[in-house]
Amino acid sequence: MTTAAADVDLHADEPHRGGIAQRLNWLRAGVLGANDGIVSVAAIVVGVAGATSVIPPILTAGLAGLIGGAISMALGEYVSVSSQSDSERALIAKERQELADMPEEELEELAGLYRARGLSEDTARQVAIELTAHDALGAHLAAELNIDEHDVVSPWHAAFASAVAFTIGAILPMLAILLPPPALRVPVTFAAVLIALAVTGAISAHIGGSSKTRAIIRVVTGGALALAATYTAGALLGTSGIV
Ligand SMILES: [Zn+2]
Repeated sequence: MTTAAADVDLHADEPHRGGIAQRLNWLRAGVLGANDGIVSVAAIVVGVAGATSVIPPILTAGLAGLIGGAISMALGEYVSVSSQSDSERALIAKERQELADMPEEELEELAGLYRARGLSEDTARQVAIELTAHDALGAHLAAELNIDEHDVVSPWHAAFASAVAFTIGAILPMLAILLPPPALRVPVTFAAVLIALAVTGAISAHIGGSSKTRAIIRVVTGGALALAATYTAGALLGTSGIV
């Protein structure tokens, strides 16, 4: 078995497939969070800039949007990942209990799963016996539920990550609206936001392996509509003399 041992060593630092899938999930969540930050804070600041050219209200509204949005994203992520990890933990506990209560049936079940994947009766049994001897719980979780005991996502990590992603996205429209001279604020923000959305659209299409052009058109059109809508609303309020 020297070849197998050498093989294991060779690939020891290569991430397993679950690891890569999980990293892509994090990346996808990060891109979506940044996207949200860009669009919602850009829509807010452009809306206020439609009504007034004074900096303090624009800054205040943008900052409030950034903080509120980041907390709301974190909260949503916390709730959703909490319920997911609760249910994964419950499944792991149930499986552990079943393995303790009825090891024979569980071994039979595992062999059955490998037979269903195309292994012969004898091979399936052999695989089940060896996997059970090595790590019974891990083998059952992987074969039955496709989860890894060590990969249960922390809700706190997920919440923090989406708040950070939203904030990074939100900083772009804040800078784009605050730095240029008054006449250029809105056009510069439109341009910066649409370019940034094209980039995030291309990245998420690349992660998902889908068409980049279609993804870019969708996200840029959506962003442009959001900015046009709030700018129009702000401008109407501004010219009506209400604000
Ligand atoms: Zn089982």
